[in-house]
This record gives sequence, C-alpha cells and structure tokens, in this order.
Amino acid sequence: MKVKCPTCKQKIEWENNPFRPFCSERCKLIDLGAWAKGEYIIEGPPDDASEDWPSNKEIGNA
Ligand SMILES: [Zn+2]
Repeated sequence: MKVKCPTCKQKIEWENNPFRPFCSERCKLIDLGAWAKGEYIIEGPPDDASEDWPSNKEIGNA
C-alpha cells in the first residue's frame, strides 16, 4: 500500500514506515512545526541548518 506524504507529496510505502503517514522524520517534524507555528515558518526551502531551534541556552547566559 502506498500513501502520499502530506508534507512533500512523495509517494511512500505505508508498511514498514515508522514515520507514516510521512515519508520521513523530517517531513513529520515539518508538519508538526507548521501546525505549532501557524505555518508561517515554512517560507523557504527546508534547511538542515535550522534543525536546532533557538533555545535559552545562549540567551540569558551572558
Ligand atoms: Zn515527505
């Protein structure tokens, strides 16, 4: 059985896929992030450079 990834529209196998209905963890996180952030964060192409979201570890430690 094949399903379409909601994020990137790629056709993927349903069985044996831990990230379903997404094709990958990345697409899953993108979708969750879009939901949590009201979708406005997805303006440009996906970029691995921003996989670590801003946190308090650098702010407030000056
Ligand atoms: Zn995908």
